[in-house]
Amino acid sequence: MSPAPADPPEKAVTDKALTEKALAIHRRLCGVYGCPIPYFHDLDPVSELISSLLSHRTRNADSGRAFKALRARFNDWDSLIAAPTAEVQALISGVTWPELKAPRIQAVLRAVRARAGSLDLGFLREMPVAEARAWLEAIPGVGPKTSAAVLSFSALRMPALPVDSHHHRVAQRTGLIGPKVDVGPSHAILRAQLPADWDAQTLYDNHEILMLHGQRCCFHRNPACGSCAVLDLCPTGQARTEARRPDGAVALHP
Ligand code: SF4
Repeated sequence: MSPAPADPPEKAVTDKALTEKALAIHRRLCGVYGCPIPYFHDLDPVSELISSLLSHRTRNADSGRAFKALRARFNDWDSLIAAPTAEVQALISGVTWPELKAPRIQAVLRAVRARAGSLDLGFLREMPVAEARAWLEAIPGVGPKTSAAVLSFSALRMPALPVDSHHHRVAQRTGLIGPKVDVGPSHAILRAQLPADWDAQTLYDNHEILMLHGQRCCFHRNPACGSCAVLDLCPTGQARTEARRPDGAVALHP
């Protein structure tokens, strides 16, 4: 079989420049937010899977409360599968779309049990990350963000890169990904910009610092570009600050 064609030279240059920018942003924001960032969860992987499914488009405090309510009600996750869906829905009523999430969580857990033989996902630890992610994403309702969260945030502590909406926004504004790249496809692009041999903690740090930056500086509306540590690396911030009007207000860019 003939070898795969090499990337065109201009693409290789672009990729190298993006990798250098991704590393520069990582170093800069690590300095701001203090790496290594402590892990916020130490859940077993199935519990992390449930927590992640609850968290979609929901504030952390609300999904945390819903997860605690499920934990308090059910002795084990098999009992959650067997429970009436309406009861699960009532327990998680504080999250966004409880009427969709309750049946989805039950269906995902059922699929895990059918494919793995139990609700123990510890075997994923023995797989390469790409394989473990593919195993999880083969379950309807599990996407790249959830698979990465299960591997990274749970006690598995595997080197996977989750991308949430804050992380995605900062990556888009700094030009690490294009304006039309959605959260799902951004996972592979952003991971490929970082060294292949980064360990779980360093990849977790990368996700956390970009997420924290989105929460504390690169706000959805009116990002604080004037006090941003990566302004010199960010075309959006530079355009915004150049567009500053004489009265001190800033013209809104995406
Ligand atoms: S310069 Fe502005 S747009 Fe760019 S990352 Fe910083 S806060 Fe966000």
